[in-house]
Amino acid sequence: MWVVSMEKVQKKQNDSMSTLRKRQSKFVRLVILLLMHIHARGYEITFGDAYRDPRCKYGAPNSLHLMRLAIDLNLFKDGVYLTDTEDHREFGEYWESLDPDCSWGGHFNDGNHYSLAYMGRK
Ligand SMILES: [Zn+2]
Repeated sequence: MWVVSMEKVQKKQNDSMSTLRKRQSKFVRLVILLLMHIHARGYEITFGDAYRDPRCKYGAPNSLHLMRLAIDLNLFKDGVYLTDTEDHREFGEYWESLDPDCSWGGHFNDGNHYSLAYMGRK
């Protein structure tokens, strides 16, 4: 009996891991579209934080960066580094048009942050 219930627990964990893994790949597919969209408008990008190792001492403890579901993008136009949230607005709006779970950090003054919601986290 105990063995059976442990198997159930294990299966539940595997299902949950598989769900997260699929979510992470969906996030990458959506980010590819975002990157291409930004490039098509004549901007350059460098990567800021994407995956954040849990051993890092900074950042929110429940951040989607810890689950590989968020990325920070550094935006440049004509060689100028654009750091205002408003500089990202058109891309944040594009991002949120891609999927109902896409969330742009501009809603909480973190304009270069793009994430995919997971289990209620944005
Ligand atoms: Zn971020």
